[in-house]
Amino acid sequence: MSTAPGDSAFLRIESVVKDFGEFRAVDQVSLDVARGEIFALLGSSGCGKSTLLRMLAGFESPTSGRIVLNGQDLAGLPPYRRPVNMMFQSYALFPHLTVWDNIAFGLRRDGLPKAEVEQRVEEMLRLTQLGKFGKRKPHQLSGGQQQRVALARSLAKKPQLLLLDEPLGALDKKLREQTQVELVNIIRSVGVTCVMVTHDQEEAMTMASRLAVMSEGRFLQVGGPADIYETPTTRFVADFIGNVNLMDGTITLDEPDRAEIGCPDVVHHIGHGITGYLGMPVTVAVRPEKIHLTRVPLDQAHNQVRGIVHAVSYFGSHTLYHLKLASGATLKVNVENEERLHSGNPVMGDEVWANWSPTAQVVLTQ
Ligand code: ATP
Repeated sequence: MSTAPGDSAFLRIESVVKDFGEFRAVDQVSLDVARGEIFALLGSSGCGKSTLLRMLAGFESPTSGRIVLNGQDLAGLPPYRRPVNMMFQSYALFPHLTVWDNIAFGLRRDGLPKAEVEQRVEEMLRLTQLGKFGKRKPHQLSGGQQQRVALARSLAKKPQLLLLDEPLGALDKKLREQTQVELVNIIRSVGVTCVMVTHDQEEAMTMASRLAVMSEGRFLQVGGPADIYETPTTRFVADFIGNVNLMDGTITLDEPDRAEIGCPDVVHHIGHGITGYLGMPVTVAVRPEKIHLTRVPLDQAHNQVRGIVHAVSYFGSHTLYHLKLASGATLKVNVENEERLHSGNPVMGDEVWANWSPTAQVVLTQ
């Protein structure tokens, strides 16, 4: 008999490897996903995220490792026998069937009694707010509506695990943002556990409660969106998620409660010790919105550097400044448009001073 999992390990991926011939597409990946959680696999093209999703669906088998869902080892189970449903980017709707019949398709194929098919389809139409579109064909719907039909069809069979492959890839930016919220609300209201794949970091951060950043078949970091953004553990993750300034230097002071890192343009004062050695090469990451600008240098400020404005991009809520530093490096600074400098906003060619607090920095040793 299978053992019941704790809620924190409803889906358990244990040391999963996938080789295609000599090529390792997924490399020793382990993960626990909690019941009801929305988890995102995030990474650029070719990192192995779809291969991992396809192994969860049963379209590929792991070369080694185990996938356990709700206490059941999925090894050897073909896709149609898994309590898993996958929604594809292309939606894969049947063009000749109505919305109603598209949603009913899998239920009828499974031989569910007519009354139950009707009840489930109606429930799904209500859930996805497609009630008035039941008689339409897919081509008579907008992209966002088609996407909801695909979701309704995926949820109709009440899977234990819902897999989303680039769920909003076919929608334009504005519709994507709106649909992200709708999709999460529907998934949450059903309570189904969900693993999604995306290369779009905003999508992963908005929709998922936790995510894994993948590169070359491996998980580089797993955590909540804020953890990954605020405390990336590698240079790759810091650079991949959001905008960042990465400054390379070496450790010049390392004490239990403070440290200094010498970089070409500035000495970084860090408010804690670092596990390293004097002279060790490290990278300091500072997000552009954590940097403040002044017209004159602040007295006794640490982490302060002079720059010349050489690009200004206005984004409505904030303005992104590119400062040229003495070494020739660029420092990106985001200033909220509400928070204007007393003497007016800097323009191209202005001299400014950038400063940030010791806690605004993350020291990366890899
Ligand atoms: P994308 O976002 O472009 O879909 P991905 O991160 O999902 O990328 P995968 O589709 O998982 O990447 O592919 C990971 C790697 O494995 C790629 O280098 C790909 O070429 C390779 N790969 C995938 N499927 C096969 C296959 N059937 N045979 C050989 N190599 C494969």
